Amino acid sequence: MKEILKKIPKIELHCHLDGSIRPETMYELLLKEGEKLEVKDIKEFEKLVSVREECDSLKEYLKKFSYPLKVVQRGENIERITYELLEDLSKQNVKYVEIRFAPFLSMEKGLSFDEVVSSVLKGMDRAKEEFNILSNAILICMRYDSGENSLKVVEYGEKYLGKGVVAVDLAGNEHDFPPEIHKEAFQLAYEKGYNITIHAGETGIVENIPKSVELLHAKRIGHGIAAIKDPKVMELLKEKNIFLEMCPISNLQTKSVDSIEDYPIRTYLEEGIGVTINTDNTTVSNTTLDKEYEFLMDNLGFSIEDIIKLIDNSVEAAFLPQSEKEYLRKIIKEELSIYKL
Ligand SMILES: [Zn+2]
Repeated sequence: MKEILKKIPKIELHCHLDGSIRPETMYELLLKEGEKLEVKDIKEFEKLVSVREECDSLKEYLKKFSYPLKVVQRGENIERITYELLEDLSKQNVKYVEIRFAPFLSMEKGLSFDEVVSSVLKGMDRAKEEFNILSNAILICMRYDSGENSLKVVEYGEKYLGKGVVAVDLAGNEHDFPPEIHKEAFQLAYEKGYNITIHAGETGIVENIPKSVELLHAKRIGHGIAAIKDPKVMELLKEKNIFLEMCPISNLQTKSVDSIEDYPIRTYLEEGIGVTINTDNTTVSNTTLDKEYEFLMDNLGFSIEDIIKLIDNSVEAAFLPQSEKEYLRKIIKEELSIYKL
């Protein structure tokens, strides 16, 4: 069964570029920048940039991003990292991916907004040509940033809308920075025709979920683990057909739930909420989509049919026009028929 998981076609909707840099590339680029690394070799470095066991909290998890952020300050690095991520995903038979990144986090050493975004898009174009993998980008606004900076992300990003950029997102520390701080930016994004996904209810704050839907126009919610605490919130997700981008391995690492038995995915599916499965950060969480699915099969009794249903949910939740969803469904169906699935 695990061999089949590796081979079946997949869709990834919640993947952070800076959390998914090949460790070897990051190591090479840091040394090239003259960074003093207190590790002997790449093996030790890998431990430094990924969560091997559980960590204590989301705050602890977010510390793993200090090295990635240092290497996303040059256009050629950003293009290479994007291209390599897509190469790796294509080897896992991922057909379509939405890659997210915060342009402002790559502007610390002089890159402009346009240089950052166009570098990602160049990497995506090159990967499409060479590996036949489809992708789009999601621009992230950071919670701790000012509302003005979020407005800039929306305004500056507009010219890429439909040309590789499909959505905006809000990410970062949910405890101290509630969604309403960025209300104006997401209202503008909605008016300009962006799709909207918001990280909400990742580590416990259930009210961020309805706020994201009602105040920020979210069509999808990143994680949404806390929805389980309030039947009214689950009802809202179901009623408005809001898909959840769940990332089981990351969610366990950041202690979003105490144990795998408490992971609410089964309840959500039984309640009729649209659930999708994603990696969050392939390097930081040391994961792949195969591992995520394997994890559900090993720990929560998911069957291969359940997994195929989750993949179909991802197609439905993708920020793509209906015709492109139909195309994805067609190629997925054809490939699955090889395995009599
Ligand atoms: Zn995320």
